[in-house]
Amino acid sequence: MSEPLLRVERLQVGFKTPRGPVTAVDGVSFSLNRGDVLGIIGESGSGKSVTMQAILRILPEKRTTISGAIRLEGIDVLSLNARALSKYRGGDVSMIFQEPALSLDPVFTIGQQIAETVRRHMGCDNTVARQRALEMLERVKIPSARSRMDAYPHEMSGGMRQRAMIALALSCSPKLLLADEPTTALDATVQIQIILLLRELQLELGMATMFVTHDVGVAAEVSDQIAVMYAGRIVEFGTASQVLKAPLHPYTKGLLASTVHGGLAKSRVYAIPGMPPDLQNLPSGCSFAPRCGSATEACHLAPPPLGEMPGGRQVACIHAGVATP
Ligand code: ADP
Ligand code: MG
Repeated sequence: MSEPLLRVERLQVGFKTPRGPVTAVDGVSFSLNRGDVLGIIGESGSGKSVTMQAILRILPEKRTTISGAIRLEGIDVLSLNARALSKYRGGDVSMIFQEPALSLDPVFTIGQQIAETVRRHMGCDNTVARQRALEMLERVKIPSARSRMDAYPHEMSGGMRQRAMIALALSCSPKLLLADEPTTALDATVQIQIILLLRELQLELGMATMFVTHDVGVAAEVSDQIAVMYAGRIVEFGTASQVLKAPLHPYTKGLLASTVHGGLAKSRVYAIPGMPPDLQNLPSGCSFAPRCGSATEACHLAPPPLGEMPGGRQVACIHAGVATP
């Protein structure tokens, strides 16, 4: 079997905060093959964004402790120096956010920003870089792309800004795209358009993608594999159909039950009881046990390991495989 594009091993991320240290990501391991889409789902605060920020190396260095390993094509990402990092970010790996303002600069036109990124990473002259910028705006289906080159971000609608951000992120043909809830702020119709666009570009460019969403419907739409995160850990991992059609972890079952399928239009009919845990005060056993209808005494003793199941899927529950009432 060939080496995966991305390999994350026992990733642990802690922050120093005024309230004391917080472990936001706690021993996350997974790998991602070239061209595949890994969807990451889980409630707010489960460590989805921090995992991606660690991969892109954009966490605040002074307040953050990172251990474990992140390898892209075998290269040790956590030990890249400043020079190598500036090539890595935006070149090998790029990220799109819920809020385009995090990557688009308000004082430059869309065309200037994309062309500058292309010039920096690909070392081409300004004419070639502007041509590439125009191609990218056309590729993300921005109408009248040529005149949009000279538009500032505030002159565009939310959906168009999102497309411009995608054009910027993809302009240097990254091997890996990190998408952090990129459609959450958009209304439902635009959301579907952007997701279809991303899927199309991802297939066309053969780019691996990590797609974070708290929306199970969106994850089902885009993912080859799915990782379910809870309290800084992966609690279930498998192909999209394994995880969505036959979830094994009680938390995954709860997440799926709280979403009514039927496209992206849905209503909540069920909520997982209780609150996501306080990361500074995690229970000693399974961190989901206090909210779990199937928990037994053994669940409160030690955190369950992420165990390998038939079919190559993984689940962190000592009762997995046992029918839950
Ligand atoms: P989500 O799954 O919603 O994306 P995050 O990965 O953003 O969750 O956050 C995981 C935990 O880490 C949360 O408790 C959050 O408050 C904390 N956290 C995230 N970023 C920082 C930071 N820069 N400093 C301190 N704590 C942070
Ligand atoms: Mg997040």
